[in-house]
Amino acid sequence: MKVTEHIVKASGKTLFSFEIIPPQKGSNIQDLYSNIDPLMEFNPPFIDVTTSREEYVYIDKGNGLFDRKITRMRPGTVGICASLQHKYDVDAIPHVLCGGFTKEETEYMLVDCHYLGIQNVMALRGDAMKHQRYFEPAKGGHNYASELVNQIHELNQGKYLNETIEGGDKSDFCIGVAGYPEKHLEAPSMDFDLKKLKEKVDAGADYIVTQMFFDNVSFFEFIKKIKEYGINVPVIPGIKPIAVKKHLQLLPQVFKIDLPEALVTEVEKCKSNSEVRRVGIEWAIQQSKELKEAGVPVLHYYSMGKSDNIKAIAQAVF
Ligand code: FAD
Repeated sequence: MKVTEHIVKASGKTLFSFEIIPPQKGSNIQDLYSNIDPLMEFNPPFIDVTTSREEYVYIDKGNGLFDRKITRMRPGTVGICASLQHKYDVDAIPHVLCGGFTKEETEYMLVDCHYLGIQNVMALRGDAMKHQRYFEPAKGGHNYASELVNQIHELNQGKYLNETIEGGDKSDFCIGVAGYPEKHLEAPSMDFDLKKLKEKVDAGADYIVTQMFFDNVSFFEFIKKIKEYGINVPVIPGIKPIAVKKHLQLLPQVFKIDLPEALVTEVEKCKSNSEVRRVGIEWAIQQSKELKEAGVPVLHYYSMGKSDNIKAIAQAVF
């Protein structure tokens, strides 16, 4: 079922969902299942599966020299989605990236998704590789998520890249896109970013999932602003519980988001990471309760592959 249909079916009840990241190349998929199993009692109607960006790896040639090659450290997104749909009877949502894919490769991936019974996709640009200052698309790939949304939307009409197949078996993907309550880090202004978000919706996006935020005021402001821009699709808040002290530096640095002073003070007082985890859980519970009270359609958690803190939050909120 489509995400938008799940939301309508819930008729005002806030749903629980979460995002997982594929295991590192060479890892056993059972580890992933063992982190998903404890969350299934909260009946997530859908689970997102990220796609890792490309990275350089260095291969030791044994003579003091190294070969450099581009790889994805966590492959398997579409396969994992297929296995989740089969194993748990949920809708699994692959994240489809512009970065590192040609339009043809994207088309083939979407055809695979359609045949596997995947009905939702999250369309994202992806980030620059670690050594790059700015995002660079693959040769023959998309520059921006709006272009990718357009490709998916066209495919839903039976329009492949080089031909239109009349009367064929069409996909009907429900398309999610990213939104940034505190503005995307590269956008020169909030106004600019919101115009670009509107372009994604106009290109065919059906719903928005937000970047993590730690102050609900920024989410509520975002909801107000997007309405002013004529964006009326459902908006799903993304919640990440702080788990280690390092997050205090890392999250603002990587995502250009603000951490409320009260949260920083609480985390700084902690003497161990298990205390930090408890503070992170408590903060996310308070955020979630307020958002649920405000009637958000779904609370979507960034699990980073670990379920214990998400389970503790879900137990308190759902
Ligand atoms: P876009 O919507 O293309 O926007 C990127 C930037 O370009 C913005 O600053 C925007 O304002 C600007 N822009 C957009 N259109 C134009 C235009 N026409 N001209 C000029 N500027 C423009 N990354 C991964 O690698 N894998 C994942 O699985 C993944 N999942 C994510 C899930 C969520 C919910 C979120 C919020 C992010 C996720 N990301 C993921 C990170 C995402 O790829 C990055 O945030 C990326 O930098 C931007 O992606 P986007 O789809 O928002 O890009």
